[in-house]
Amino acid sequence: MKTLIQGGYVVGFNGQEHEIIRDGAVVFENDRILFVGKQYFEPVEKKIEAKGRLVSPGLIDTHFHSGINATDYLLNEPDKPDFFASNYLAHGAPTREGAKHAHLKDVDVGQRFSLIHVLKSGVTTTLEIGGPGADPQPYVEMVGEVGIRCYTGPSYKNVNFHHDREGRLEYDWDDERGVQGLKKAIAFAEKFNGACNGRMHTMLFPGHVDSCTPELLEESRKAAKRLGVRVQIHTTINLIEFHTVMKRYRCTPVELLHRIGFLDPEVSLSHCIFVTGHSWVAYPYGDDVKIIADSGASVAHSPLKYLKLGITMESFDRYRKAGINVGIGTDTFPKDIISEMRYAALGSRVADKSFIAGHPRDVFNAATLGGAKMIGRDDLGRLQKGAKADIAIINLKDIAFGAVRDPIKALVETGTSRDVRTVIVDGEILVDNGKYLRLNEDELLDKVQAKGEEIWSSVPKWHWTGKNVDEVLPLAFKMK
Ligand SMILES: [Zn+2]
Repeated sequence: MKTLIQGGYVVGFNGQEHEIIRDGAVVFENDRILFVGKQYFEPVEKKIEAKGRLVSPGLIDTHFHSGINATDYLLNEPDKPDFFASNYLAHGAPTREGAKHAHLKDVDVGQRFSLIHVLKSGVTTTLEIGGPGADPQPYVEMVGEVGIRCYTGPSYKNVNFHHDREGRLEYDWDDERGVQGLKKAIAFAEKFNGACNGRMHTMLFPGHVDSCTPELLEESRKAAKRLGVRVQIHTTINLIEFHTVMKRYRCTPVELLHRIGFLDPEVSLSHCIFVTGHSWVAYPYGDDVKIIADSGASVAHSPLKYLKLGITMESFDRYRKAGINVGIGTDTFPKDIISEMRYAALGSRVADKSFIAGHPRDVFNAATLGGAKMIGRDDLGRLQKGAKADIAIINLKDIAFGAVRDPIKALVETGTSRDVRTVIVDGEILVDNGKYLRLNEDELLDKVQAKGEEIWSSVPKWHWTGKNVDEVLPLAFKMK
């Protein structure tokens, strides 16, 4: 079926860069874009009116973990023991005896909710790190039902992080755990690449630079090359990691990856905040940013996660100007990639002490072309004849926006996920008029609330204090 989207600000791609076509037209048939331009005169079966709206390439989320927001409330706790602002170590690591009660994956409610949540912010492709659990089949089926394009695989590492009953963080090393984890990840990659009618692609996700042995990382890189899949690893995401690697190997996490030959254009680094030159690191040697740029590796930047902790990348513009390909991720809650673009821009301005840093053009490029480059796709992140029909239509005609001169600046400075009206993946409309079409949102939200209550009530079973959730995370105000 041929569908015409007409009348909006179309973000077309001219082969080099995006350009805006005012009152433009986009036509797609099946999973491909047929036409992008000013006017389309041939007959079509369906028309979508986009006047006052931005017709954007579907956005690409380069770092995402599914699960409902219940666990993010725990990670956001401002009164947590510090661990140098490492939220998941401070509030995510369970006691050894309580580990089986913590952060259980829930495919049907939690993971489904989270994928729909991010889809509704205009994300048509997401890199879901460690999505599949011990039994991957139900997860793969759920992703197929949701309809989003998903690059995924199980995450694995040598270390399990635990707290003892005094709140001390401990690393439990186990070489065999890493070997078995990689084996399972390879089996997943082989079995499910191309699943969900081609919308699922597999990747390898070794955990972190300080939670994997160099041998496991080297084996991961070899396996990914053999399988022809991409790799992403959490890199220099907190100061504990920076100092752990420095103590063990006398180099930075980025230098270690470079030393073992891990870095190249098929690899992306999640977060990558604490590099040489970052003010929190106070380490006056080396040039991690240059190492990454020279290698061709990408960085997946999730600014909100760090802003919540009082931290910013230093800086989005510095990485970009050095030649690093940067994508945008949503590694916290809310998973609103439109707001993440704004946070990336503002974070860069604060870090650079410059109001001309973090240009809306550059963060929009990161959320589209940057994400596509990270996964080696020249048919995603752009509206161009022959590209995938992955499209987000975002309303800009609203009191919140007022007069619109530049739709990209308007989107980045003002937009949120709730302005997204239509989301199309592979030519299939999944969100229309702001509603997800494949299930009843109210019913899902009731299940999500119940699941949240269940997760919060499990806190005393795994948290090192043994306290209930209201003691670990006091409410903002007393509630009667
Ligand atoms: Zn992550």
